[in-house]
Amino acid sequence: MRPRQLGRERGVCAFCQHYTEHGHRLKLPESFTDYPYLQSGDVICEYCYAFLKDPRYRRRSWLIEAGRVTFLSRREAVESILAEHEPPFAIYVATRGKRHGWIPMIYAGVNWSAGETVNVGLEGYGVLRVERRNIRVILSWAELLKKRRVPLSAITNPSPRHIATLGTQLWRRLQLTKDWPEWLLLIA
Ligand SMILES: [Zn+2]
Repeated sequence: MRPRQLGRERGVCAFCQHYTEHGHRLKLPESFTDYPYLQSGDVICEYCYAFLKDPRYRRRSWLIEAGRVTFLSRREAVESILAEHEPPFAIYVATRGKRHGWIPMIYAGVNWSAGETVNVGLEGYGVLRVERRNIRVILSWAELLKKRRVPLSAITNPSPRHIATLGTQLWRRLQLTKDWPEWLLLIA
C-alpha cells in the first residue's frame, strides 16, 4: 500500500466516519458518482484518501492482507475467495472497474476469521456473504457450459437449443442453481 498522505484538515471522514487531524479537503473528482455510499462528514481521512487517489482500488480486483495489497484479475480474485488467507483480510471483485465499490467495505468488508463463508466486496453489490461451496459449484458449471459452448446466461435464460445441447439430466441439475443470485453468475 502506498504510504498514506497526511493532510491538514481536521474533522470527521465522510467515508469511514473516523475523526482525523490529518484529513484532506472533501473535494471529490467530477467523475465521482458514488455519493449514496457517503455519510455525513467534512473531510476525507488520510486512509480513505489513499484508496480514493489510487485508481487501482477502483479498476482492479484486490486482496488486502496485513501489510500487503495484491491487485488481481477478476478470475484471480474469485480464486482468492477459495484460497486460505491469514485473517484479517479483505477481497474486492471489480466487475466494470467504474464505481468506488470498495466504500461499503469500510464497515463490513474485513474478514476477521477464516471459514467457509467469506465477506466479499463486489462492485455494484456492496459486501456479500459468500459461501465458498457455492463458488466451487458455479465455477464447475461455468467450465462445463463453456466446454459445451452454452453461454452462462442459459442458467437463467435458457433456449430449447441449450437444453438439447446439455441433455435433460444435466439440465435438471443445472436448474437447481437457477434461483441463485445473479451476482454468482457474474463472478463465474
Ligand atoms: Zn476515512
